[in-house]
Amino acid sequence: MKWFKNLKAHFPAARTELAQVDTPPIDHRWTALGSNQIICDCCGVDFCDLLSIGYAAPEDWPHAADTENNHTVDLNGGDFLTQDLCRLGDRRFIRCVLTLPLVGHEAPFLIGVWVEVNESDFLNFVREMPDGRQGSMVMMFCTLANIVPPFRAKLPCVMQPRNDFHRPVVHVAIEEDPLYAAQIDGLDFDQLLQILGAHGHFTTNTA
Ligand SMILES: [Zn+2]
Repeated sequence: MKWFKNLKAHFPAARTELAQVDTPPIDHRWTALGSNQIICDCCGVDFCDLLSIGYAAPEDWPHAADTENNHTVDLNGGDFLTQDLCRLGDRRFIRCVLTLPLVGHEAPFLIGVWVEVNESDFLNFVREMPDGRQGSMVMMFCTLANIVPPFRAKLPCVMQPRNDFHRPVVHVAIEEDPLYAAQIDGLDFDQLLQILGAHGHFTTNTA
């Protein structure tokens, strides 16, 4: 290709200015996970099973966590909480998945989080729900409705509905925010322990 032929002429400094770096060594604790079961003292759950956690309700949900059914809930009634949808006064919430890559580990860390959306997006989402064909819906602006320590709440996000009844994926929309960086760069082992520790896991035993 002609363009590549002239690459060096257009970017003469490109080769010489590249700093040589070594791939950092993989944290040995990831390797240990593959060979040992590491059980959390607080809940008896294996470390690898804690790589997927979820919030039962939006942070501001004041009622019991008892859930109603997606299919039978009265959308025009009062406050409700199902596995995927929530109404609190004039506020509307949808449960999504936040994915954080783990540096040195194949599987990502998945967090089931609630996001707040406007009423019209909420109604469109609910209307498309029964068919499981929500992947064609446009991305929605939303606000993170859970506190994922050490990150802040009410973070502006976008969420993309998906097909086949998969929960929508959520992306932080503010590039300067640490959670945005975590979504792009991933968490190292200690950062993951910090999040799990904030939820009570692995505070007395060390993975
Ligand atoms: Zn635990």
